[in-house]
Order: sequence, then C-alpha cells, then structure tokens
Amino acid sequence: MTRLLTCLAFGLMFCNLPGDGQAAEKSTPPNFVVIFCDDLGYGDLGCFGHPSISTPQLDEMADEGQRWTQFYVGASVCTPSRAALLTGRLPIRNGMMSARRRVLFPDSKGGLPAHELTIAELLKKNGYATAAIGKWHLGHRSEFLPTEHGFDSYWGIPYSNDMDREKGFPNYRQKAAEDPHYFSPIEQYQVPIIHNKEVVEKPANQHTITKRYTEKAVEFIKGNREQPFFLYLAHNLPHIPLYASDSFLETSPRGIYGDVVTEIDHGVGQILDTLKETGLAENTLVVFTSDNGPWLLFDTHGGSAGLLREGKGATFEGGMRVPTVMWWPGTIEPKVQTELGTTMDLLPTFCSLAGVGIPEDRVLDGHDLSSLLKGETTESPRQDVFYWRSEQLYAVRSGPWKAHFITEGCYGIGPKKKVHESPELYQVEQDPSEKYNVAARHPDIVKRLVDLAEKHKASIEPVENQLTK
Ligand code: MG
Repeated sequence: MTRLLTCLAFGLMFCNLPGDGQAAEKSTPPNFVVIFCDDLGYGDLGCFGHPSISTPQLDEMADEGQRWTQFYVGASVCTPSRAALLTGRLPIRNGMMSARRRVLFPDSKGGLPAHELTIAELLKKNGYATAAIGKWHLGHRSEFLPTEHGFDSYWGIPYSNDMDREKGFPNYRQKAAEDPHYFSPIEQYQVPIIHNKEVVEKPANQHTITKRYTEKAVEFIKGNREQPFFLYLAHNLPHIPLYASDSFLETSPRGIYGDVVTEIDHGVGQILDTLKETGLAENTLVVFTSDNGPWLLFDTHGGSAGLLREGKGATFEGGMRVPTVMWWPGTIEPKVQTELGTTMDLLPTFCSLAGVGIPEDRVLDGHDLSSLLKGETTESPRQDVFYWRSEQLYAVRSGPWKAHFITEGCYGIGPKKKVHESPELYQVEQDPSEKYNVAARHPDIVKRLVDLAEKHKASIEPVENQLTK
C-alpha cells in the first residue's frame, strides 16, 4: 500500500509495483544515505592512505564504489558546512557564516532560515521518508530543528559535542597532548540528545553515541524499505572530545582517535549490510564524507589532512577538501574519481536522480553530478570551487589552479591572517600541498581567477546574519 501511494506521488515515471521483476525494481526512485563525519581529515581513512587507522568497511565501500579525491565542503567549520550540504548553497547566501562567531553556540538565537529549502524538504514533498540522526548544528531552538526543515524525525545532539562545558574538569587540550588514549568524564559536556523536539538525555552518554546513531540508522532503513527514503546520518565524532564504546576502546594503534574512526567504519559496514540484506543496495546511493578538515589544535586527538596543507578553519586544501566515498552497486562504476565535486552538489544530484525539480527562485551553488556518477560523462560539470571564510572570499579554484587572496592558519593555531596584494597561485594537482607559489610565472591565470572571484562576489546578496543573533 505504501509503495502504491508512493507511486501515485511520483506519477507514472517511476511506478513499478513489487512483482514487476528485477528491471522494475531498478526504476523505483533511489534512496539516499549521507554519512557525514565531524572533523574527519582527508588522510584519516585506510582508503585515503592512513598507515595505522583501520577502516576495512570504508575500504571495501571504496573498492565497490567511487573514491573522490577532489571533493570539497562549502566552509571549513561545522555550521556553515552543514548549511551548504543541505541547501546546495554557499552559506554566505543564507546568513550561516560570520566573522565574529563562526558556528552556532548554545546561547545562539539564530538558525537555518525557514525559507531555505533543504534536500529533505524537496524529497519529502515527493514521497520520500526522511530522517536526521546525529549532529544538527543549524539552530537548536524549536523553530530551527530538523523537523522544521523537511525531516520526519530527528534524534541526536543538536550541536557540537564539546559544548555546554562544565567548569572544574581537567583541560581537554592539555590532557589530549599528554595522552593519546584520554577520554574525559561525560559530565564535562552537558550536551543533550533531542528526539524530534524533546530532550531525552542530558548529558548525552557520548561513549555509546556512535553505536546508537548507527542503530537508529539501521532501524530507519529497515522500517522504510517499502518506500524511498533520505537518511542524513551526521556523526558527532571524531570532533573532540573523543569517546568510543567499550568494544572499540584501545583497539587502534592510532590511539582513541583511531578507535573512534574504526567504530564509525564498523557502523558504515552495518548500514551497507542492512541495505544488502533488505534488497535495497542496488537502489541506494550512499555518500560518506566529512564536514571539514581535522582540528589540528588537539595533538593526537585531532585528525590528519594527509598531504594537504592546514586543517579545520582554513581555506587551504586541508580545511576544505574531505575524504569522500560514494557507493551504489550496479549503477556507479567502481573507480577513483579525480574530477571536482562538493557537498553542495548533492542537492541537485539527488533531485536529478529522484526526478524532482530543483528550486528556480534562488541561486544554487551545486551542480548535478549524476551523469558523472553513472559514467555517462567523464568531465564534472563543476570546474570551480569558492573558498569562503567568515564573510570574505579567501581563495578560488578553477580547474587545477587555485588563487589565494587572503591566507590564514587553521582553527586555533597556524599563521595569522594575511591579505595578499598580489594573489598567491598554486597548481593543486601538481602541488596538492600548496607549497609552490607560481603566480609570477602565470600572470594571465592570476588575472582570470581574479576576474572569476569578482564575478562570483557580485552574485552575493546581503542577508541577515544568523550566527551573530
Ligand atoms: Mg566539523
């Protein structure tokens, strides 16, 4: 019955009822699962070259799917990056980016504005079941929670897991520097777990948070196998403070950071196994990625950007290029994908794959990657990346070329802000670590990137800032 109603919602385009056979199953609208980590660095997975973190499930997912080596986020810190993924728009367009407060805090009054359209809203209107599990960080007041933004349900910590901090506990940064296995008492961080709009636990028992998020995700998939769904699973970890459940603690030679990533990896395996067991694997696109680069301030408790420069908070590659794996057995060809993509591309890509129109009354910064995913083309429709920090455009990439107009180190540490009268220029395919400024040799390319940046900035309209309310 549910399937019948869904078919009515989608019209004849996708209408194939059970019993129509294998080919019919393939024409039902696809499910989408986004697994979004917090502060996981470009170099933190086995399949992205980490030498001592074990990620067998993600490695297998990458073997069966696509490992994207040049995939970016819309901002280098949590709140704006999440706004970008869910709306397909740069956060500078929806007020979710600020110089004074770079993310939302427990005393913030703002959030993702109601008029913004999320992936969940667009798909829900077209018959999808939708769930947000995990970190939200787009406004924790009632009017901004996921159930106000297109999600049928929500269960998770509404902001970062290091917030609502109590006094009288050891300094986490100092402890982290001393001990790669350290974890703090959960009472130090009085973060709540919210179910839809009600607080159901406080402080959240963060030791089991990754495990419980995975269990909720599996439960949602099993409960919605008869209709198309969009699952947004946003892990709070490996953002500090780090916690792992008993069965993962002290299992990784990398210390607690490795324990945490291995537990997330195990959860990915459980989700993919559930999709296989329920017969949904061949009709589900799973995207695994991270919201920004590693928080390098926390010694071994922070991740690694691998060969990329800097980390969380910065507009160097280490802040905004993230480890990404996409999986859809039978539809996307297994390969290493070196073309450009960003989290903002997910909205138009999912809409295209689901046969849902994209909003035409606003500027979208995403591109439809579906043809690239399916191998119908080898060139990404995305050729540019814009690197905003706070309310300023720091850098722009076009093809392999990246110009920095302003540079600044990562969150909490690193070089101070510097405005460059003459932009720095890097060829980031030949020089992914951004070591060799070649601006003097390529004035024509610098000029082209300056013009591109100016044209882009002219498309930004002033909006009310949500992070400084
Ligand atoms: Mg983050």
